[in-house]
Amino acid sequence: MSTNNIWKINGQPMTNTIKRIWERFLIIISQLKRQVNMNVVTVNQFFKTSLSKSDVMVESILKNELIRQTTSVNLIASENLVSRAVLEAQNNVFINKCAEGYPGCRYYGGCMFADELERVAIARAKHLFKCEYANVQPHSGSQMNQAVMLALLSPGDTIMEMDLKCGEHLTHESAENRFGIWFKSVSYGVNPETGLIDMNEVLNVAIRHRPKLIIVGTASYPRTIDWKAFRRVADIVDSFLLADISHVAGLIVTGLQPSPIDHCDVVTTTTHKSLRGPHGGLILSNKQELFNRLSNTVFPGLQDGPMMNIIAAKAVAFLEAQQDGYRIWAKSVIENAKAMVERFKTKKIDIVSNGTDNHLVMIDLKNLELTDKQVTSWLDRCYITTNKNIIPNDLLSTNTTSGLRLSTCACTSRGLKKKDFERIADMIADILLEIKDKDKVSLPLETKTRMEVLDLADKYPICYSV
Ligand SMILES: *Cc1c(COP(=O)(O)O)cnc(C)c1O
Repeated sequence: MSTNNIWKINGQPMTNTIKRIWERFLIIISQLKRQVNMNVVTVNQFFKTSLSKSDVMVESILKNELIRQTTSVNLIASENLVSRAVLEAQNNVFINKCAEGYPGCRYYGGCMFADELERVAIARAKHLFKCEYANVQPHSGSQMNQAVMLALLSPGDTIMEMDLKCGEHLTHESAENRFGIWFKSVSYGVNPETGLIDMNEVLNVAIRHRPKLIIVGTASYPRTIDWKAFRRVADIVDSFLLADISHVAGLIVTGLQPSPIDHCDVVTTTTHKSLRGPHGGLILSNKQELFNRLSNTVFPGLQDGPMMNIIAAKAVAFLEAQQDGYRIWAKSVIENAKAMVERFKTKKIDIVSNGTDNHLVMIDLKNLELTDKQVTSWLDRCYITTNKNIIPNDLLSTNTTSGLRLSTCACTSRGLKKKDFERIADMIADILLEIKDKDKVSLPLETKTRMEVLDLADKYPICYSV
């Protein structure tokens, strides 16, 4: 058979035109084939190329951050250390999913598993906090508090919150916060002698200003809050009561601190501090009508789609917080903070309110005549990470303060024990006293502290891989 035969139709030779068309067709096919093959290759790489291969820059920054975390002592109160399970849960395929709305009523298709996940997170949050309603969608602490204000207030209304110097959080409504321009703000403080909330002052301020909303809950108050007493005040002036328990949520769900849930209209908390979850917010309430309003201000009021991958990690953290190990952790957090306080006292270093009931140790630098700026940068150089904080009766400003805020949360998660915290308190005390004497930390002390920190780091590694 001659090769010419393929150019015949029904035994007759093809015309040249048909031959050309056939050739063009073969070219297109071969191009398509090549295209498909190329797609197979790129698609494979798209799914298979690891970060270390695809982005050396970001990969190396991540590695450095892990080394920094491992080789320092973290005493920052708004941070913690998540479990491997929480870290894994945040890093998931829900990163690809938009799920505007709430379970059962979404704006997009394909939300069956998003619904299931969010329902699990909500059920766990309700069980953990023993309450009727939970919204797990707020992206952060700022959004959860803004949602509450948006739901409960009209522009021009008065909010009463703690004085910033005494522990209030910026998101509660202040000049620095965007919401400060919409609402009037009045504040209550602490007793200058004891450092404790003065309920008489709270009542007086409330009666004088008749706020629509009273906010309780702080970022630097180391003492237990009497929720019932605040409820009484709120009832007298007929105002809403919001508890923001961001810092102590983990101590509340373990029963180590009293819960505000039965005394407040709304409770908010971040999920990344003592709750040991991903960065995010949570809104809780027992009041249905109010909660419906709140859900509307979260979505569509303030946010659009929820971050479903973060909600997965929140759900895991809520489950962990129900386990025995977490209760043991929370108990140690308080014991370790108390141990640090005692150690500082023996070194004649002042502590705000002269002690602590929670994870916070607030150092008062006034008598040492030091400011936070000198102190935090020297501590940083010695691999001890802390943060400045304004304190009651502070003579300075929010930028330069006389307070140093320490917390035992992250290091307790890492496994450090009471004696380790005493050692850290000693290191900090030695550094403070030397800065007071010499206006700096001498090289021998800096070196000694660094070696001690690295010794602790060695004993308690941060290690997420198998
Ligand atoms: C940290 C904190 C917030 C804000 O949380 P972000 O997620 O950083 O916005 C709000 N309230 C209190 C009491 C906090 O401690």
